[in-house]
Amino acid sequence: VRIVYSVPARLRLPLAIVTALVVAEAATLLMRPRVVPRPVDVPARAYFSPQELERARDFRTGQLWLYGGRVAVELALLVVIVRRPPRRLLDARRPVLAGAAAAAALSLAVTAATLPLSAWSRERAKDVGLVTQSWTGWAGDVAKGAAIGVVLTGAGGALLVVGLRRFGPRWWAPGAALVVAFGVVTTVVWPVLLDPIFNRFTPLPAGALRSDVLRLADRAGVKVGEVYEMDASRRTTAANAYVTGLGPTKRVVLYDTLLEDFSPEEVRLVVAHELGHQHHRDVPRGLLYLAIVAPLGMFAVARLTERLAPAGRERGPAAVPAVALSIALLVPAITAISNQLSRAVELRADRYALRLTGDAEALIGFQRRITIQNVSDPDPPAVVRFLLGTHPTAMERIGLALAVERGS
Ligand SMILES: [Zn+2]
Repeated sequence: VRIVYSVPARLRLPLAIVTALVVAEAATLLMRPRVVPRPVDVPARAYFSPQELERARDFRTGQLWLYGGRVAVELALLVVIVRRPPRRLLDARRPVLAGAAAAAALSLAVTAATLPLSAWSRERAKDVGLVTQSWTGWAGDVAKGAAIGVVLTGAGGALLVVGLRRFGPRWWAPGAALVVAFGVVTTVVWPVLLDPIFNRFTPLPAGALRSDVLRLADRAGVKVGEVYEMDASRRTTAANAYVTGLGPTKRVVLYDTLLEDFSPEEVRLVVAHELGHQHHRDVPRGLLYLAIVAPLGMFAVARLTERLAPAGRERGPAAVPAVALSIALLVPAITAISNQLSRAVELRADRYALRLTGDAEALIGFQRRITIQNVSDPDPPAVVRFLLGTHPTAMERIGLALAVERGS
């Protein structure tokens, strides 16, 4: 920190941002598994018909524009509020309470301002047959999400003002510690506290599938935790699966749409992929990555906030919108970097699943079917993949299966 303070004032902000990005990239390179063999390069048209590709691209391109629109609306809203902060924030008599109110109000305002675009995006998903939920159900989800957002951002706003007043320009250090603690706590409690607000989770009933999953986990030497079926079909026809939780809440979650629409071999392969995440401890490793990246990330947020907040008000509730804008600007850049790690980790889980099941054909068949069912673009433009891709593309995953098949 001393070094940073000895550089000329006008260089502090760019240097802080560049350092945060460099540290994120370094952590990505250090933690990134090298997946052997490398996926074979195959064109999407070898596995998907022109009609399937056109349908997916039409749908995804529109969804991306709507996503970009929501980001633009959010940034514009924050810029307006940062430039003209409400009077009540400037001379708040109870600064901590004002910080909480400001953060909660910002969260609600962003949800409200982007709502038309969210509804439009949902309408397009409905047109391609992905939506099974009524508008009332959707409105209920939005309301629940907004309520959770208000509580969490409200608490964040209050803590931020406490930190700003107590630690001044060094608030980023306790701030980063809180971000990491929040990451750990939510990883542990989210699956038992917040997920059930949106869906029903039932342990996989005794039967062929459950014994198959347990046998697979046993063979892999992985303590799988509980395996749950989630009633995703109340909202969508899309299929998926994921691992979540930590310690006592560690679990594998399978969408009911997956269990209904896919063959036992394909479900087995998905379970093996999730076991790969358990085997490599990808959830705790993700938290480790957060712990490495958060300090310099928050340092950059603090320096950007100083630049954006109204002069002389950097220590009070009037700085809250500036912090929100700084986070909204910096987090996507850091996420684009951490996505490189995420894609490599996902490919490694695929490699693990292929080793465990020895079934490359099932992976290829599964990727083909799930891509069509979820109306996903199997081979999105490179820039989209780079900025937003948390998973390898379907063509990379098929390419990995082909490489494994050819290798053995
Ligand atoms: Zn995965």
